[in-house]
Amino acid sequence: MAIAQEIKCSHCGAPVEFKPGELIATCKYCGFTTVIETGQTFSFEHSLILNRFDLNSINEPVHAWMSGGFLKPGDLARKSKTTSKDLIYLPFWVVSVEAKSTYKGIFERISPAVVKEGTISKEYDWLVLARAASEFPTHEYDIPLEGKIPFDFRKIEGFAKLLNSEIDRDAALEMAKQQIEDHHRFLLQQDVDKIVEIKTEVTSKQIVYLHAPIWFIKYEYKSKVYQLIIEGTAGTALKGDIPSTRF
Ligand SMILES: [Zn+2]
Repeated sequence: MAIAQEIKCSHCGAPVEFKPGELIATCKYCGFTTVIETGQTFSFEHSLILNRFDLNSINEPVHAWMSGGFLKPGDLARKSKTTSKDLIYLPFWVVSVEAKSTYKGIFERISPAVVKEGTISKEYDWLVLARAASEFPTHEYDIPLEGKIPFDFRKIEGFAKLLNSEIDRDAALEMAKQQIEDHHRFLLQQDVDKIVEIKTEVTSKQIVYLHAPIWFIKYEYKSKVYQLIIEGTAGTALKGDIPSTRF
């Protein structure tokens, strides 16, 4: 376990704890956000997605997930026991961009093969998780941006945990660009069989830093522990380990 370091909050003077690797920290006393490297005030929009569940009501979406879907054991909801429920506010960058990929590829499904050139132009609110290492399923998360409010630390429940950002704004923009290009490569599979060249340009319109509520649930079924991840706005399950069913 790495040792946490401290800087002083530039707003209220309270100690702001951060761990090695974290670049942007939010004061847990006043909610002010500071860029660690410079100690400067964070000058971008910092938003919050509200959590709508408590330690009791989160059981409903957990139960609903366990009861639905034909791949699960029939007695899953009945026989499993929730062993931990952690609400964590994860940091994200929402990168709003216009992206344009210019490509050249070969269409081989007909003979003779033909060279195809074209562009893909799209607009995105691209979500980048602001943590270096995580198995969080970002692409499953349809983040409810219409519900975001200015960050307000008073809305953070006492039992919840808030993680700081390990990725700065420029790195987030670069990651979004890479991921969008990968996405465009994927989309191109229906038009060309081989991509010879692809170049993606992104124009960022807005970059927002935000925290969103994610529930990490652990449950036990037949003496094994499994994990379930649920977003805290609508209670949608983003990823869940399903015990294997043997026939
Ligand atoms: Zn403060």
